[in-house]
Amino acid sequence: MATCLLFAIVEMAAQDLYPKNEAVDVQDYIFNLTLNDENNVIIGEAQINVAFKDKVDTLVLDLIGKSQKYGMEITTVLEGDKVANYSFSKNKIHILPSESKENTRTFKVFYEGIPERGLVISTTKFGQRSFFGDNWPNLARHWLPSVDHPYDKATIEFRITAPEDYDVVATGEKLEESNLGNGFKLTTYKEPAPVAMKVVTIGVTKFASKLLDVVHGIPVTAWVYPENRLEGFSDYNVASKVLDYFIENIGPYSYAKLANMQAKTQWGGLENAGTIAYFENSVTGKNTVEALIAHEIAHQWFGNSATEASWNHVWLSEGFATYFSILYLEHVYGDEKRKDELALDRKQIIDYYKQNPSPIVDLTIKDPMRVLSINSYQKGGWVLNMLRHKLGDDLFWKGIRHYYGTFRNSNALTDDFRKAMEEVSGEQLEPFFQQWLFTKGHPEIKWDWSYEKGKVRIDLEQIQKHHPFDFPLEIGIVQDDELKIMKVTVNKKSEVFEFALEARPDNIVLDPNYWLLFEEKI
Ligand SMILES: [Zn+2]
Repeated sequence: MATCLLFAIVEMAAQDLYPKNEAVDVQDYIFNLTLNDENNVIIGEAQINVAFKDKVDTLVLDLIGKSQKYGMEITTVLEGDKVANYSFSKNKIHILPSESKENTRTFKVFYEGIPERGLVISTTKFGQRSFFGDNWPNLARHWLPSVDHPYDKATIEFRITAPEDYDVVATGEKLEESNLGNGFKLTTYKEPAPVAMKVVTIGVTKFASKLLDVVHGIPVTAWVYPENRLEGFSDYNVASKVLDYFIENIGPYSYAKLANMQAKTQWGGLENAGTIAYFENSVTGKNTVEALIAHEIAHQWFGNSATEASWNHVWLSEGFATYFSILYLEHVYGDEKRKDELALDRKQIIDYYKQNPSPIVDLTIKDPMRVLSINSYQKGGWVLNMLRHKLGDDLFWKGIRHYYGTFRNSNALTDDFRKAMEEVSGEQLEPFFQQWLFTKGHPEIKWDWSYEKGKVRIDLEQIQKHHPFDFPLEIGIVQDDELKIMKVTVNKKSEVFEFALEARPDNIVLDPNYWLLFEEKI
């Protein structure tokens, strides 16, 4: 997602501690939900199809139990059509499957209550009652019994019964919209690709909606508040251009549709699979959110389809979305735009590091809300920029396509990405990944230059406290308004570089084309 707020300070803790059970693999969810206008109680029936690997084991689902006003109560749990052996406490449902050799089972959880979070029941900025799913990172458990961690992805179907004057959009392809004749309407959506609970959603309010385009067979739609109809259709129209760019350059899109939805969300944008939520004021009619739209659409490949298997590796989602948004902007507006964006990000990374000296993949974090930082977004993006420079455009894009092709609709860790890039490039990338992703900091470079006897001399020192970094560096020699690039490799604490030059240059600049993340020290 794209955050609006300043990042919280990362506290020291342990890593992603979600109790994964690899013996249990959810195949699909069907969520029947009934919404009403009298109160905020939702009535739910979740059908969960599970495949047990190797052995039939206890199925553990996340669901926030009732405590005072908010939370869910379970009325019954079935295995097939029989009452299941289950317990519900501490926000976990434990279901003990019956004795049987059947490795695939269907369970149903019947529940109701008022969700405190996850499903935001509120009013739009125009005062219209609204229901919006806002799950990232682990809020699905407030309204959807599920394995609420991205390591277990499943197909999903929403069957929403809501007052008949609402319009309903949700993750997936629309299968049914039926007036039930009792003041309610049933709307069904099904997403055949596996999705993580962090990025499934519904939107229920009065909408204006429009088919903007069909790109490579994918319908691109806008769902905006009726009061914002024309401005919203205009602002979200750029989504089809972005979708085309990513399909052409990365690979096939994974979901049934691409809906762009104006929404109540705690984020600037939330990349829900195929049904992206953008903050209410994203609609201005002035095309001010193109970069945000590109960021959220990039997530459909990275984060949604190729998904981090552990929260500590969330840069595979946010760093990628950050950089692929920049790649899209570079494609549309040229290389100066890339440099401008990276210059802004570099400043943020340097400032952030002074307060939070931690690596991008920070295994000390256990709370998924705390993995979001300048490190996972901007620095993750910068690492991809440096990897692109190291490999060259051709190998970089080949590697990206290979990584996506391998982990599409699946899960990956940082090492999986490294191996994919190594397979394509034939390069050993372990040192690069180690120094930029698993080690804190960046080169802090103090340097000076002089000219004497037909030679430029550059004295360069890495003054950061820890080990010296190893990196390619471009040195720009400016003479008569022309920029000449000299390429060197820096890997020692102190180094001297000399180049023959007929006349004294007008100026020397380090990294004029923004390929190195470093801090220039005076
Ligand atoms: Zn994002």
